[in-house]
Amino acid sequence: MKRRDFFQTTGCGALGFMLATLGLRLPLGAEDATPTEREKMVMKLLMEKMGKTKAEAETMIDDFQNKLPMVQEMCVCKDCPSWVKDETVTGFCHPLVGKSKVITEEKGCICGSCPIYKKMKMVNGYYCTRGAELELQIEKKEKQAQAG
Ligand code: SF4
Ligand code: SF4
Repeated sequence: MKRRDFFQTTGCGALGFMLATLGLRLPLGAEDATPTEREKMVMKLLMEKMGKTKAEAETMIDDFQNKLPMVQEMCVCKDCPSWVKDETVTGFCHPLVGKSKVITEEKGCICGSCPIYKKMKMVNGYYCTRGAELELQIEKKEKQAQAG
């Protein structure tokens, strides 16, 4: 099964597409054997909230790592009115980044103009203050499920 088909059958709508675009490649390599706290948190989300197996989640984390430099390079956050000069991180939409530790005020979001946003068919924004697309989409689905 192609990776995109895999997520379209096991993922959920836009979230599945976003993850499929991030892609699946190699399993978690020995060189990255010690996961960070953020990686552990994302692993937990993938397994507990999206029903992924440990092996699937590890493979996804590995590919998130591979794609992170590209996301951060293409990120346009530095041109955003909410950006602050003390921030050194970019790519807040990415599962392995999430909320900024520095940006706290929402003064406008230009994610909609970002090539990554368009490429991954993202639907949220203000990732620096609200969390990564993956987290926001899971939260939204949980709220919808609770509302019946
Ligand atoms: S969508 Fe937003 S947070 Fe993500 S890379 Fe683009 S500008 Fe940065
Ligand atoms: S995530 Fe959106 S609001 Fe935050 S700095 Fe990037 S473009 Fe601006």
